[in-house]
Order: sequence, then structure tokens, then C-alpha cells
Amino acid sequence: MIRRAVLVLLAVVLLGGCERPPPVHKETLYVFGTLVEVTLYDVDPETGAAAVAELEVLFRRLHRDWHAWEPGLLSDLNRAIARGEPFEVPADLAGLIRISKRYAEQSEGLFDPAVGSLVALWGFHSDDPEAGRRPDFDAIRALVATAPSMRDVTVEGTRVSSRNPAVQLDFGAVAKGLALDRAVANLKKRGIADAIVNAGGDLNVIGRPGDRHWKVAIRDPVTWGAVATIDAKDGEAVYTSGNYARFREIEGVRYAHIIDPRTGMPVDRIVSATVIHDSGATADAAATALAVAGPDDWPRIARRMGIDLALLIDAEGTVHATPAMAARVVFEGGVPANLVVAGGKGPS
Ligand code: ADP
Ligand code: MG
Repeated sequence: MIRRAVLVLLAVVLLGGCERPPPVHKETLYVFGTLVEVTLYDVDPETGAAAVAELEVLFRRLHRDWHAWEPGLLSDLNRAIARGEPFEVPADLAGLIRISKRYAEQSEGLFDPAVGSLVALWGFHSDDPEAGRRPDFDAIRALVATAPSMRDVTVEGTRVSSRNPAVQLDFGAVAKGLALDRAVANLKKRGIADAIVNAGGDLNVIGRPGDRHWKVAIRDPVTWGAVATIDAKDGEAVYTSGNYARFREIEGVRYAHIIDPRTGMPVDRIVSATVIHDSGATADAAATALAVAGPDDWPRIARRMGIDLALLIDAEGTVHATPAMAARVVFEGGVPANLVVAGGKGPS
């Protein structure tokens, strides 16, 4: 009898030992023109559903308020700028403009959301940029000559004005990062400690799933296969800018949606630029800036923006990485022969 009781007890302990994996709540939202996948680790379905519903409300509002060409708050602001009038904005849009001014300054204007009119002239102010039509190069040259820049934009409290009416704000290169920063902050406030919010490959993570880190793939821009994987640590954001995600094909040539503000031309020397940072907004803006900077100048711009983890693939297929990134990333099939290590916070 005693023996049986012991056996039963042992069975219970054993059952307790082979734990079931904690529940994972996964939902996909369509917002910011992309699918946003939210994965919450060790969260029960009700808590998970409530948290994602809250994120959806936040994302929908930011989409409406910060969209570069759909009617909304930002297009109202852009019209006021074109008329030469100041405009009152909500505090969070004022914040987005302020951090964008900082990133523009740090990147020497390679990231500059004041180039909305250039993006529009290239046909990217559309959900489906149609192939074929050549942009109006005279209009592009004329616009570059007026040099719209975040330096022209002044934010006093929540009052925004521009001394240059050619400025049109387009936060396509930074808004997603700031939105995802807010999303993970919201999750944390709800007591959710381990999560990943992934907007089409641009993502923020908090915590970790169990005793390992979130594993993130860095994809080949052409084949979409994983080039490398990297463990994203608690609080990190991984953002990639590339000329493969959105482009137009004109007379057989692909034009990227990332424009060099100095020339008005789409970038063509960098195929993809990935940045890891503890701020999604910084990672997003920096990935765009490094794509514009190109294979020679990116280490300098990365340093100016305080970026220690970056990986770029150029049009020749050469892989460039900072020392810290090269040390952390795990390449599929081993370290590529054409890996160039440069940049980083220290001297290169
Ligand atoms: P993705 O949208 O693929 O994540 P980015 O973060 O680089 O890529 O954002 C590209 C978008 O940013 C463009 O679609 C355009 O709206 C805007 N943009 C293009 N060139 C620049 C630039 N030099 N500086 C700031 N924003 C830009
Ligand atoms: Mg970006």
C-alpha cells in the first residue's frame, strides 16, 4: 500500500517534470501596408487577445495620423507647409518630427523625411507603384535645387512650421520603428515580458522565449532565403532597408524607394542594410541612412548615429559588417569569403 502511494507520487512528480510548453499567443494584423505579426510568449489567450486588440487600435491611429499620402493629419500638415503656414500637431507627431530632425542631422541629411515630394515624384506615394512610366526628371532636378531638409522645419512645443515650402514630410523610413517601440512598451506595461512584434521583417523583441533568445533571420534580398541568423536580445530592434522591398521597374531597370536626398535618385549600390539597436526608431532611420550612404561611407554615418551593429549587402554581393555584428551573426554555410568588417564605435 505504502509502495503504491509512493509510486503514484512519483508519477505525479514526473508528469510535473515533463512540462507542457507555455502557451504562445500569435496574431497577425494588416497595418502600415504590411503584415504585423505579434508573438507573445507564455501568455494565456484572453490576455493575449486583449493586448493585441490594444496594439491594433494604436497602430490604426498611427497609420492614419502619420501616413505620407493618405488623407489625414500628416497630409494636413504638409498642405500647411506648402502654404507657408504653421500647424498645430498632437504631441506624439511633434515627437516624431523632433527625433527625425536629430536623425537627419546625425546622418548629414542622408536620412531626411523632408523629401516627401521626391518620393512622390518617383511614384512611391501609392500602395501599388505602377511600373513603366518614367518620372519627371526636370521636376526632380528642380526639387533637389530647392533642397528640402529637416533643417528647414521648426518645432516649438506642438507648433510645426517650415521656412521652405518645398518640404513635404514622409516618415516611411522611421514611423514603423517608433510605432513598434510604442507597441513593445505597451506590452511591457501590461506585464507581458517576452514578445516579438514583427512588421514584415522589421521587428522589436522583449524578453526571450524560455531559456533561449529570439532567433531572427537576415534574408537574402534576391532569393529571400536566410543569409544569416542572429539572436535578438531583450529590448533589441532589428530593421532592414533595402531596394527589394518596394521598387518600380522602368524600362527594365529597378528603382528603389529609398532616395538619395543629395541627387534625387534612388539608391542602387546597397541592396540591403540591417541595423540592430535598442530603439526601433533609431534602427529604422539608420538602416535607411546607411543604404543611402553606400558601401564606402556607411561606417562613418553609422558611427555618427551611434550604431554598433550593422550588416549591409552591396550590389556586388559583398557583405559588410561592423565588428560587433560580425561577432554575433551566424552565417548560413559559414563566414562568407567576401565579408568586409568595418565601422563600429571604435576606430575602424
Ligand atoms: P522599408 O519601408 O522597406 O522598411 P525604409 O525604412 O528605408 O524601408 O523606408 C523607405 C521609405 O522612406 C520610402 O518609401 C520613403 O517613403 C521614405 N524615404 C525614401 N528615401 C528617404 C530618405 N533618404 N530619408 C528618409 N526617408 C526616405
Ligand atoms: Mg528605415
